[in-house]
Amino acid sequence: MFLKRIELSGFKSFANKTVISFDEPLTGIVGPNGCGKSNITDAVRWVLGEQSAKSLRSGASISDIIFAGSQSRKPVNTARATLVFDNSQKIFDSPYDEIEITRQISRGSSEISNFINRTPCRLKDIQDLVMDTGLGRDSLSIISQGNISSFADAKPEERRLLFEEAAGVAKYKKRKKVSLSKLEAVKNNLERVQDLLDAQTDQLEVLEKQAKKAEEYLAAKEELSEIEISVLVIRIQSAKEEEMTIRSSLETMQISQLDKSSQLEKAEAQSEILTKRSLELDGQIASLQRELSECMAEAMKLQKQKAVLDERRKISLSSEDEQARRQSLMELFSEAAFEYEDRRDRLNKASLELKTKEDEINRLQSRIHPAREQRDRDMQDLHRLENQLAGVESRIAHPPFKNHGVEAVMNNKNRLGGIHGLVRDLLECEDEYLPAITTALSGAADQIVVSDEASARQAINWLKRSQAGRATFLPLTVCKPRVLADWQKQTASKVSGILGSADTFVQCQPEYEKVKTRLLGSILIARDLESANEAARRLKQSVKIVTIGGDVVHAGGAMTGGYNKQPVNPIPALKKEKIRLEEQIEALQSNLEEQESRLDEFDLQVETLRADLMQSRIEKEKLANIVQVKKEKYDSLQLQIGQLDLSQANGRQDLDHENSLIARLSALHEKQDAANAKMRRLQQEKEEAMNTNSELTTKIRTLRHEISQLSSSIQKKELELARVETRLEQDLNRLGADYALTFEAASLRMKPVNVDEAEVQVRALRKKMVALGNVNLSAPEQLKEVQEKYDFLNGQKTELEEASRQILEAVDEMDQTMIVQFEEMFNKINGCLDEVFKAMFGGGRARLVLCDPQDLLNTGVDVDVQPPGKAVKNLQTFSGGEKALIAISVLFAILKARTVPLCIFDEAEAALDQANVERFARYLSHFKESSQFITVTHRPGTMEQCDTLYGITMQQDGVSQVLKVLLKDAREMSQ
Ligand code: ATP
Repeated sequence: MFLKRIELSGFKSFANKTVISFDEPLTGIVGPNGCGKSNITDAVRWVLGEQSAKSLRSGASISDIIFAGSQSRKPVNTARATLVFDNSQKIFDSPYDEIEITRQISRGSSEISNFINRTPCRLKDIQDLVMDTGLGRDSLSIISQGNISSFADAKPEERRLLFEEAAGVAKYKKRKKVSLSKLEAVKNNLERVQDLLDAQTDQLEVLEKQAKKAEEYLAAKEELSEIEISVLVIRIQSAKEEEMTIRSSLETMQISQLDKSSQLEKAEAQSEILTKRSLELDGQIASLQRELSECMAEAMKLQKQKAVLDERRKISLSSEDEQARRQSLMELFSEAAFEYEDRRDRLNKASLELKTKEDEINRLQSRIHPAREQRDRDMQDLHRLENQLAGVESRIAHPPFKNHGVEAVMNNKNRLGGIHGLVRDLLECEDEYLPAITTALSGAADQIVVSDEASARQAINWLKRSQAGRATFLPLTVCKPRVLADWQKQTASKVSGILGSADTFVQCQPEYEKVKTRLLGSILIARDLESANEAARRLKQSVKIVTIGGDVVHAGGAMTGGYNKQPVNPIPALKKEKIRLEEQIEALQSNLEEQESRLDEFDLQVETLRADLMQSRIEKEKLANIVQVKKEKYDSLQLQIGQLDLSQANGRQDLDHENSLIARLSALHEKQDAANAKMRRLQQEKEEAMNTNSELTTKIRTLRHEISQLSSSIQKKELELARVETRLEQDLNRLGADYALTFEAASLRMKPVNVDEAEVQVRALRKKMVALGNVNLSAPEQLKEVQEKYDFLNGQKTELEEASRQILEAVDEMDQTMIVQFEEMFNKINGCLDEVFKAMFGGGRARLVLCDPQDLLNTGVDVDVQPPGKAVKNLQTFSGGEKALIAISVLFAILKARTVPLCIFDEAEAALDQANVERFARYLSHFKESSQFITVTHRPGTMEQCDTLYGITMQQDGVSQVLKVLLKDAREMSQ
């Protein structure tokens, strides 16, 4: 037999392990009501995959199928049911000859354990195993009384299910359902992908435009970079050459300065040596002079002694007459007295002259010393002023900026184009008004005046790109003057301390008049805060008023004032300072030249006076000696006169004495001659020294002048060098910061460009870049990403469409198969029905009718019957028994048309009368050859046809028990 046995344990009323074996084709299960017969069919249903607690009549939960216990029996914990099939005919798609399917549930666990041939498996495995065998959950294998009675009342569409089951299309329906749900998922995915694709398409369009724009921008930028790099390289090369030239000329000047300084040093040292030598010579000459004077004095003394001896000899030899001698002495005395007095007067005069000359020299020297000190001080001042001038020039050339952005723009103004300058540099005013105008301009002083809005945009974009800071620009094309209203002017003019509007105190180039009026035309200048307050009151605080001192009464009445440490704009002051310093330097230089020439004159005068003085000293010495000699002669004659009586006794001795005197005189003369010769030599040497020194002085002066000029030139060159170096550094920094290039690397990329033409190209490129507006530079990258995403999605879409097509194809194939199988089975059953009907009803006719033959997939099924002798056709109008018999006829027609390996009837014939039950049972036995039947029944007619009968009993303990019974016993049990 196909179903070999059923094993139950703890399942519903079968608390004990119960085995029901089936050895013959038609087995009857009999017993009184409530003994547990239907529990057996429930067990078969559960094992074959039924999950519904309602279908299994198990109350609220599936676990209610576990034996619940009775008054005398405890509940059990596990329900277990097993069906054992013979698979030698390979009804199951399995290699095993016996298939044992078991299901088991334990109390407290919601899980059901499943086994095929005692191997754990899933419920689906069991469902798949039984699906193609006709034993499925909704199959024909279990026909209950309810199935039979509802057949006639069911809707045609519900009735169709029976025929589908018979046609074996359930598995296709199930597969179709799965395929359709897959198709639904694919369609959902496809919709989602399509939505994403639509979004990507929109994005693609936008990004394509942006990418094109970005490419244009980048191409322009690349071209601009190439030009700018080339221009920078050219500028750097030129700056380097300029730097080299300046350095070389600076070096030449420094060498020359060093050379001249060393020459100066040498000349000064030489001059010092010569000055010392002159002084030494002066000393030597003076000493010689003294020596000469002494010689002369000695000679005079000897002469005098000789003269006395001569006189005494003359007197003693020529005249004996005392009177004559006296007369002669008196004459000599008178002559000597005259000569003495005369020479003494001359000496006095010479002393006086000498004194005058010494005074003159002292006076000159007393003037030379401070004049030299003054010259040195002025020289130091000159150096200090020249240093200051260099500093001021440097600050003017490189003014400090409060704002980095402003500084960056001003340092690159030639490159940017259209930059006129800072407001503070373009407007000028008298010193006196500088604080007021500076305060009135306030922050606007640092605004940058540009030709037009394009120039401002270009500079702002450049600042952004180079991250150099921020700046405010004032385009001349849109600069509108701002002036006071007439009533404001009239009211202000009535306040005595109001001097006028601020713009009237400022001068500028005509092209900047608009800037001036714009920034200052609506501001008033007041003499002091009192006047400002008065004017503000009369003007109802509608105007900003600035005092000359820089205090402010704002429109609205707020007041600002105090002390400013730093001038807001130092450039005008610096320019003024520069002019002042240049004037001072010029004046000082001409003053120094005058001082030098005056000092030269002084030096010359002193030298001349010194020579003169020396001569005068010698003369005076000479005169002093002469006076001494004359005085001695005078004294001697006076003495002689008084000694006329003196004897000439020692005449011989006098002669010897005279000879000795002559010899000494002769020696003295020689000494004098030698001294005179030496003195001439010394004087000549001194004269030469003085001449050389004078030349040296001129040379020193020239050298000093040249060194001073060189130093000034060096400072200028150094300043020039600093500027070139700054320019070079800025350009090198730009190469590094803007293009990440070294000069060497940039030189390799450099293309020959004409700088002027490059400027024009740069402007055109910048204009083009500005005209492109906002550019999304990452657009090409984004486009690539979006395109890749789009292609991926498109690929997915194609795959999904292909999958959808394949599913639809499969569904179509399944539909075709179902249609063919359904139609085939339907026709087959229909072909059998009339015969079965006639056999069951003893005549009449019956046929199956398709509600919609055009739609074989969905059409409902009607049964057109006409029992013998009846005209009634409507199924609803038949009696319960007739309805059951019609249903059983259809069932038998199906069993005729299609072999079912196992069919379990659960009181299917309950509604039939005795005669029909017997007809039913007899007809049933026709199928015993091909099918196995198990029938739960109360009807003896049916029991009579059964090969084996099992009786189910239930004792007081509420537990069902099974035993084989004879027909007689079975009849009894049912009653
Ligand atoms: P009838 O001839 O009236 O159709 P039957 O023989 O088919 O009756 P069943 O419906 O199979 O009777 O069995 C019903 C009996 O099974 C009832 O007595 C019921 O109490 C018992 N039963 C059902 N479930 C359980 C359970 N979980 N534990 C114990 N007994 C149960």
